Amino acid sequence: MNKLLLLVILIILTLNISALNPTKYYEEFFTSFLSDPNSIQNYLPEETIYAANVLGITYDINYPKFLIGNIPTENIRKILLNDPDKYQLTINDLGEGYSHLEVSIIHGKLNYFFKNLQLISEADYSTRNWQTQESEFFRFRFPTGNPPDLIAVKQLDDFAKLTLNTLTCSLSKVEQLKEEKINYLFCPDEDTIDLVTGFRTRGICLLNQDYVVSRFPAHFHEVSHMLINYRIQENQLFTHPFLLEGFAVAMGGRGGKTAEIILNIGLFLQNSGFANYEELLSLEGFIQMDASISYPVAGLYNCFLMNNLDFDSYLNLYRKYGNDNGNFNSIQITELPLKSDWEKFLINADFQTIALNNKTNYSSILNTDSLKVGQSKEYFEFHTKSPIKIDFEAGKFQLTVSGRFKITCNENEVNILDTATGNLVATYVNGFTLENQPVEKQNGLWHFFVKRSVFE
Ligand SMILES: [Zn+2]
Repeated sequence: MNKLLLLVILIILTLNISALNPTKYYEEFFTSFLSDPNSIQNYLPEETIYAANVLGITYDINYPKFLIGNIPTENIRKILLNDPDKYQLTINDLGEGYSHLEVSIIHGKLNYFFKNLQLISEADYSTRNWQTQESEFFRFRFPTGNPPDLIAVKQLDDFAKLTLNTLTCSLSKVEQLKEEKINYLFCPDEDTIDLVTGFRTRGICLLNQDYVVSRFPAHFHEVSHMLINYRIQENQLFTHPFLLEGFAVAMGGRGGKTAEIILNIGLFLQNSGFANYEELLSLEGFIQMDASISYPVAGLYNCFLMNNLDFDSYLNLYRKYGNDNGNFNSIQITELPLKSDWEKFLINADFQTIALNNKTNYSSILNTDSLKVGQSKEYFEFHTKSPIKIDFEAGKFQLTVSGRFKITCNENEVNILDTATGNLVATYVNGFTLENQPVEKQNGLWHFFVKRSVFE
């Protein structure tokens, strides 16, 4: 009862202060933030502090985790503190107890959002009226009426389970994640993700609150970033991109393409001599190379590392090339496995999901005018028109107008898109093979073979 009374008095006092002089409140907030960023703890609601720490993911920084991505450098903070003329505060009342403090400084703007005078994130403000739905490992938040596809949700849960296993997460940590869940903000379009994150991006991890934000309901790449940070727990803020992105690509693919597809591109780039992982071991080398080349090759090499090293050694390497400033020395060749092991890996690696030649005997499982499918132990043989939509359930293919898998072919390419996740799950691109063999048509139908694992 006493506590309740105290709370009521505090609320009345707070409201009175803000009603009397709201500007002063925000000024005090900003100057105390400039002199000591840790003072923002006083402005954070308890539930926000709890939620940002519940997974135990920390970063080696000397300011609150909540400020990651939204804090000026120490130098700029000093300049602003010493000269209040160098910044200007604008306060916007957003209604329903929400307000927005915009700080204009020489190099741009800083934005802080408040609810009843307590600090909240821009992501929490912009998703304040969203719906919530939980799965095994995730708490999805999405705009009303736009829930994530349930097949995609199941795929993401399965992916999380597999990745936690690869990461050698303890059973208790897996159970903890099932209990607490990863917050996944599902933004169905580009405008929404721009509103939530300030970026026109496909997806991003917001480290300050452990949020995965994505335009796709099953963004394996971003979830990989979050899961390795969960495994490490006490993280450095930056990791050398060869390892950071290499890991996420090896586990989760990139840009709407599954890991196998990207790794296959990496294998082609490495084997054909278009690119070499050694060029990516320096930070400059990685940054200078186009991401469509650097990411697949880094992914391939990280896949090799995870195959070649025990996982603790891999994590040690990953952590060794992390720091709090983002400047990195080149990764030393002496820290990597023997080159002969890498060459052996390249010879044996096989990420091809679609083949044009496969001599095994196939038994027919579907025979229509526009689609014929045969099966062997490892592959399905397709004769198909293009484009075509199919479903695959309980070992059977079915032609349906709203089919989950969309197959498109021409003589240069075969693509299979999983419309549930928005991911390309199998592809053959003539230009990305050393043989350069075109896709053939037999009796008016495109002919190729697809690994069973693509559908099963
Ligand atoms: Zn990434």
